[in-house]
Amino acid sequence: MSEHAGQHRDEVVKETPYRGRFAPSPTGDLHFGSLVAALGSWLRARAMGGAWLVRIEDLDPPREVVGAAERQLATLAAFGLLSDEPLVRQSERHAHYEAALQRLIDDGLAFPCACSRKQLEASGGLHLAPCAAPAAGTPHAWRARVPDIDIAFDDPVVGHYTQSLRREVGDFVLKRNDGLYAYQLAVVVDDAAQGITEIVRGADLLDSTPRQIWLQAALGLPTPRYLHLPLVLDEHGRKLGKSLTSLPVDAQDPLPALRAALRFLGQHDHPDCSSVTALLQRATTHFDVTAIPASIPSRIGEGSD
Ligand code: GLU
Repeated sequence: MSEHAGQHRDEVVKETPYRGRFAPSPTGDLHFGSLVAALGSWLRARAMGGAWLVRIEDLDPPREVVGAAERQLATLAAFGLLSDEPLVRQSERHAHYEAALQRLIDDGLAFPCACSRKQLEASGGLHLAPCAAPAAGTPHAWRARVPDIDIAFDDPVVGHYTQSLRREVGDFVLKRNDGLYAYQLAVVVDDAAQGITEIVRGADLLDSTPRQIWLQAALGLPTPRYLHLPLVLDEHGRKLGKSLTSLPVDAQDPLPALRAALRFLGQHDHPDCSSVTALLQRATTHFDVTAIPASIPSRIGEGSD
């Protein structure tokens, strides 16, 4: 019986066309870390014979930098990374986030909360205990009512990852008290709406994934697969040279940064390829997901050892 179920699942996986995505927030120019995430998700999608979509996560106007989205897209284009479908902008999708929030409220899985940061200090900033309903007219957030549950998933790079949602995250915010929708809610709604089958992104979002898997179940949405790429640290971190962080902003000369990103992902950098198109094509043919390091590789950038 279980063997039959397993076979069936494999067939379903094969039959579903692969759809990946890159979802930058327009908070600045595309840096090397974003290039790694863009390239990693693009290569994986292409190697799987699938589509690659770009979504602009312009959910938080106060954090946005004017013109950043357009510059990010121009840089991606210079690197040969073009969305296969029209761009989606989160700023145009508020009605969908509201509908999802309403469903959670109707199902008793979201509640209004006017707790201040100060009030949550004693619990390490986490919302763990039931709170009083805000008085009418008080500005308040909406939080997910998180059960005591362990959420686990298997990542081809990171391996098995488990999070105890209630203890490690608590009742997280779905809509802020300033009326802005939270990333966790919007990303789940949009990944489902775009039919994303696998999410490839930086490991900085690893601890968000269990929240998203829980929300998908709560909203009756499918759960995609997840692959988290190693993190690129800036000059204040370890191992990453200053020159490398500045590489991708040079959209005029994309090849060195593309090669550095390939090496960072544990892939061959094909020095004989003299155009972006040729390099991307060769990198797709030779893409080896098992070569992606789970942590920061010791050899990155030209001349580092
Ligand atoms: N917009 C998020 C960021 O730029 C990424 C979201 C995601 O890949 O899930 O950090």
